[in-house]
Amino acid sequence: MIIVMKHGSTPKEIERVIETIHKEGLKPHVSKGEETTIIGVIGDERKLDPVPFQLLPGVDRVIPVLKPFKLASRDFKPHDSVISVNGIYVGGKNFTVIAGPCAVESVEQVISTAKKVKNAGAVILRGGAYKPRTSPYSFQGLGPAGLKILAEAKKQTGLAVITEVLSETDLSSVAEVADILQIGARNMQNFALLDAAGKQKKPIMLKRGLMSTIEEFLLSAEYILSRGNHQVILCERGIRTFEKATRNTLDISAVPVIKKLSHLPVILDPSHAAGYQEYVPALSYAAAASGADGIMVEVHPHPEKALCDGQESLTPDQFKLVMQRVKAIVKVVGKKLSIVS
Ligand code: PEP
Ligand code: MN
Repeated sequence: MIIVMKHGSTPKEIERVIETIHKEGLKPHVSKGEETTIIGVIGDERKLDPVPFQLLPGVDRVIPVLKPFKLASRDFKPHDSVISVNGIYVGGKNFTVIAGPCAVESVEQVISTAKKVKNAGAVILRGGAYKPRTSPYSFQGLGPAGLKILAEAKKQTGLAVITEVLSETDLSSVAEVADILQIGARNMQNFALLDAAGKQKKPIMLKRGLMSTIEEFLLSAEYILSRGNHQVILCERGIRTFEKATRNTLDISAVPVIKKLSHLPVILDPSHAAGYQEYVPALSYAAAASGADGIMVEVHPHPEKALCDGQESLTPDQFKLVMQRVKAIVKVVGKKLSIVS
């Protein structure tokens, strides 16, 4: 249920609605806009059925939310959420480019890539210190040593950093370095992790699960939002279909669908969707044209030597070329490339 207050409703009237919600054992979520205040109700709304909210002073209307997610929904927040990450904006009219290697491998690998992707127009550096790998025998990431390398890259280039957190246990150490915490596709329904991510302050980029519907995706985002962290960025990274020519199938239609249902920014990951370097440029252009809020691209100085996902990684030179066309498309769709302000 969403309670929309009248323009000019008084703090006392707002407080009364909040108290009424508390009294029924539910949690209010207050969103103060420039003109109106909107109060969302979190919890089992059936308890509120007998409460005639529309009769309380200052209440304009009461909207039942039929969708299973509330805080993630556009009904709750009609305008796009714009998330600020160290002076970079994600969402709204901004198109944000994140790039870097799949995994942090060495100081030299990360720093040389960071400098080059920054030069080509990326504003956030990606790189996994902790890697979720299908096989336990594959490279699992450098762990804490990888975080140190990311911190050094941040210091040297000024780029913001996104890196994956695999479990609640690592959350605070990863959050010390990361400007955005990534929750990967395989952890999209790790509810303990979502819960912990929602209780801390760093922005989260939540990747869509390999086999998850858009509704499940938004419900996972709802976990984080409902725990108090409103800085959530969604990432579509391809879903598993019957098609074997690509690693996954980029669900480009997820962009307009999510944009209709939710106010949260949506980033596309052409690298994990394609799985092969040669398809990454086309999917990047499609992402820019789709109205997405940005892309996250894997770039490695020597893809043939990469310890993880080399086959889908662009070289810095290839990335630079892709960015030239991405910039042109971003302009056509009425967005602007995020820059460090
Ligand atoms: C990644 O982006 O590093 C990653 C592991 O991707 P995904 O979770 O989408 O597979
Ligand atoms: Mn990867």
